Amino acid sequence: MNRIHSIKGVKDVLPDEALVWQYIQQKARDIFHTFGYSEIIIPIMEYTELFSRSIGETTDIVEKEMYTFDDRDGRKITLRPEGTASVVRAYIEHNLRDSSPFSKLYYIGPMFRRERPQAGRFRQFYQIGAEVFGIGHYMIDAEILHMLHLLFDSLNINGVELQINSIGCPQCRPAFRNALKTYFADKRSELCDNCRRRFEINPLRILDCKSTHCHALAETAPKTIDHLCNDCLLHFNGVQESLKTAGVTFVNNPRLVRGLDYYTRTAFEFVGGTLGAQNAVAAGGRYDNLVAELGGPSTPAIGFSIGVERLTSLFDNNMVAKRSPLVFITSLGADAQKKAFSLINHFHKKGISAVMDYNGGSLKSQMRKAGKLEAKYVIIIGEDELLKDVVILRDMQDKTQTEVPAEQVIDRLIK
Ligand SMILES: [Zn+2]
Ligand SMILES: [Zn+2]
Repeated sequence: MNRIHSIKGVKDVLPDEALVWQYIQQKARDIFHTFGYSEIIIPIMEYTELFSRSIGETTDIVEKEMYTFDDRDGRKITLRPEGTASVVRAYIEHNLRDSSPFSKLYYIGPMFRRERPQAGRFRQFYQIGAEVFGIGHYMIDAEILHMLHLLFDSLNINGVELQINSIGCPQCRPAFRNALKTYFADKRSELCDNCRRRFEINPLRILDCKSTHCHALAETAPKTIDHLCNDCLLHFNGVQESLKTAGVTFVNNPRLVRGLDYYTRTAFEFVGGTLGAQNAVAAGGRYDNLVAELGGPSTPAIGFSIGVERLTSLFDNNMVAKRSPLVFITSLGADAQKKAFSLINHFHKKGISAVMDYNGGSLKSQMRKAGKLEAKYVIIIGEDELLKDVVILRDMQDKTQTEVPAEQVIDRLIK
């Protein structure tokens, strides 16, 4: 029979790696809760128009990368390529503004984009993200960055650099776009195909083109920071001052723009580590107009997402202890096995992690399995022990063993 493989670019997270993911997710949850965030669990699929309206029709994601299909009633459905749009939709749909003075929400889960498969890039990939609605103050921008800083710290991830920029607002961005267009006008023929298109629709995105030639051309391009309106400038200065107060180091990157159309003002990325400078492990920014654009009340907002695969690639797996059972129960013979089964039921009811080998086999082979699972104790029940109603309790660390009355073994282990 032919074996069926997983889909290209879609991978399994095997138990050892899943343990690392759980550890990282738990750290993230703990830190988010410290900052007053609550989890929101958003659907895997949405109506396609949610993403085409929020992310923008002309982005790579919407044009080329979304997994879209016709539902049986003919409506177009898309597997979510990112989380923000869904959180915003939920925020509007459930009037979350009325149920909480401000909403701080986080989500964890898979996203789907049909990108060219390459090392470290997957078509089903995982994000940890958070969004804040209803706060326009620059201090929340700094607070979010402080939160990410503490998360990386708690995961012992070093060498990641925070880069920030301001991409302005609908008042000041048109002037900046014009300045960019003027700058690139006579360099148009030298730009890559993508950037020639971007020149027309979204010249800001030429600034973060990955092509080295475009990169070089953008070297002396106008900077957003020189074209900010007064409010945007005050906001950006406030963010930088607050980051210093919070003890978060950062660098200014005037070429940092976000790939998605809905961002305003503060944009940020955590980049570097062993990933190389072009790869962000976390990215985000402010998007003060998206809620209104999706039909909600005008609401300032800011958020970020972390790429879980990239985060785990920077993480030292040795920080996560292997999960091994406290007890492995070995038994010899059918009657001893019955005794072992009744004992393990007691263990499980008491919440003691315990396993036994229902396949039986020799004591030697059972001991080998106990060793492989790194059980801390082994209980041995043979015919002699059965007759005396005792068990042998072996401490696998100091290799000592004692005979314990069967009914006392649980108390011993709890102690
Ligand atoms: Zn502005
Ligand atoms: Zn380019």
